Amino acid sequence: MRRWRERLEIETGSLAWMNQVHGTTIVPAQTDAVPTADGLTLRPGQGAAVMVADCVPLLISGETDDDRLGAVVHVGRAGLLGGIVDAAIDIFQVAGITDISAVIGPAICGACYEVGEDLAVEAEQLLPGSSCTTRWGTPGIDIPGTVARILTNRGVRVDTLDICTMEDERFFSHRREPGGTGRFAGFLVLDRDTPSRLPAGGDPLL
Ligand SMILES: [Zn+2]
Repeated sequence: MRRWRERLEIETGSLAWMNQVHGTTIVPAQTDAVPTADGLTLRPGQGAAVMVADCVPLLISGETDDDRLGAVVHVGRAGLLGGIVDAAIDIFQVAGITDISAVIGPAICGACYEVGEDLAVEAEQLLPGSSCTTRWGTPGIDIPGTVARILTNRGVRVDTLDICTMEDERFFSHRREPGGTGRFAGFLVLDRDTPSRLPAGGDPLL
């Protein structure tokens, strides 16, 4: 964590963070305050982080010939059902940016994410196709799969790392360690001059 922070802050001056509350608010990244939000938009020369431990760390980048925009978004169940993924893409499109790509980082998969039946029904009503069955046969919600589908439907190129935080012990998982766990971070840095940078798969720990 500190190693990453030092490396990234060399390039950005400082990383922007947010106080995440499972809401749908997305605000511009700033380095002199930590806003209460679940998404930060970035301009070239800025970097921002999203902290997770089962929720989806969603990194979005888009550009036109003369404009570039990035966003880091925290997508848990509440944010997903509240519409934060569409809200993020709306910001890009209102800015006139339609060439958009996204990375869905490590998150709990639908086969591991058990919820009560009422929640699964609510999710299915709001976002058809989002409910699923866990590998042990109980109701679940497929958050990363639903995020990917929403993005694809909006014309976004999606790269899913396809890592389940509950199954892969390299990552923190609230569900695997319900007594208390850490969180890991997804970072996005928009270079000032070169095309925006998104991790192109590979080992996300390196
Ligand atoms: Zn899983």
